[in-house]
Amino acid sequence: MQETYIRHSPCERCGACCAFFRVSVPTAETNDAAGGLVPADMIFFSNSSQRCMKGTETTSPRCIALEGNVGVRVKCTIYENRPSTCRNFSLSWEHNIGNRLCDKARGVFGLQAFSQY
Ligand code: SF4
Ligand code: SF4
Repeated sequence: MQETYIRHSPCERCGACCAFFRVSVPTAETNDAAGGLVPADMIFFSNSSQRCMKGTETTSPRCIALEGNVGVRVKCTIYENRPSTCRNFSLSWEHNIGNRLCDKARGVFGLQAFSQY
């Protein structure tokens, strides 16, 4: 069976952002809404308008959809149905634009930042 990794290298050997930030999910994107794709059973509901990926609401965040070891090998088990928050989070310099949040998350896990500012 073919595995679906978070992205092509180097994200598939990282996963730091999935285990560091609170990952918000817009209400319209969960599959309990028409056209929504993100599995609702993976959502933490703090109230009707505040949703995030389960596990990322804690003080030691780790998204419920993340499998593997951060910094070694990871995959997103809902990659095709992940929220826009994840889709819009760019690997630093992936599109010739730095992302300090990517660098920050990697730094927390002792991984080298991609950016030179
Ligand atoms: S922290 Fe950066 S390199 Fe690591 S998985 Fe997230 S986007 Fe990819
Ligand atoms: S849904 Fe997937 S890409 Fe988004 S934080 Fe969770 S594991 Fe990472």
